[in-house]
Amino acid sequence: MTELMKGKVAAITGAASGIGLECARTLLAEGATVVLVDRAGDKLEALCKELGDRAVPLVVDLLDGADVSSMLPRILERTGRLDIFHANAGAYIGGPVAEGDPDAWDRMLNLNINAAFRSVHAVLPHMIAQKSGDILFTSSIAGVVPVVWEPIYTASKFAVQAFVHSTRRQVAPHGVRVGAVLPGPVVTALLDDWPKAKMEEALANGSLMQPKEVAEAVLFMLSRPRNVTIRDLVILPNSVDL
Ligand code: NAD
Repeated sequence: MTELMKGKVAAITGAASGIGLECARTLLAEGATVVLVDRAGDKLEALCKELGDRAVPLVVDLLDGADVSSMLPRILERTGRLDIFHANAGAYIGGPVAEGDPDAWDRMLNLNINAAFRSVHAVLPHMIAQKSGDILFTSSIAGVVPVVWEPIYTASKFAVQAFVHSTRRQVAPHGVRVGAVLPGPVVTALLDDWPKAKMEEALANGSLMQPKEVAEAVLFMLSRPRNVTIRDLVILPNSVDL
């Protein structure tokens, strides 16, 4: 352990599974205290017992505005500070627009866009006041390349990228950095909704990554010296048919 994150407090949303959980493990291994934010309460409690004293479970339904507004005071009550906020939680829906369920789209867009932006709104004033902080999004390669088989998900991640770029410039003068990691397909529960044929094709041509690869990219970004702007990092496996 190199203790790159010693003394830092990070909060990661969607941390009970997949990329968020692996980012939590990686930051914990580097000495950080990590608040694992998720709606999956039972899972969080069990995970934090396994992860040790510096892993703090926080049950938040990001689709509940009151829950999101109370997130910062609840984090500070448990940890006393917040240096890193990773807006990671997200959902996925692919498939043809003509066959989609607009109500399901609304739920995904609310999580991927509105809840992510609201959660940043909830923590930013604290970071601006302390003149320091890092805000990171788990965006997607679908945030910069329009993916043919998932138009609504792609639209949600383009929205994330727009928010990241504008907010980065707004808050940079306050010592707050904003960046995004943009992975290609990663083996997590999220891909359960991928069409079977697409999954078989991706497995056959080596187009899938492990969550650890994304967590290492995140650690790289967060460990840049404070005078270095963190920008966006695309991380791709073998070529994917986008
Ligand atoms: P995952 O399904 O493994 O984890 C998502 C987590 O979010 C779960 O623990 C879930 O309980 C939590 N969550 C869902 N709704 C919530 C809510 N309302 N409130 C609180 N928590 C909630 O998915 P993952 O693949 O780890 O995805 C994490 C992020 O990575 C997402 O933003 C996703 O868009 C992005 N991403 C994933 C991939 C991929 O291929 N897996 C690729 C690029 C980007």
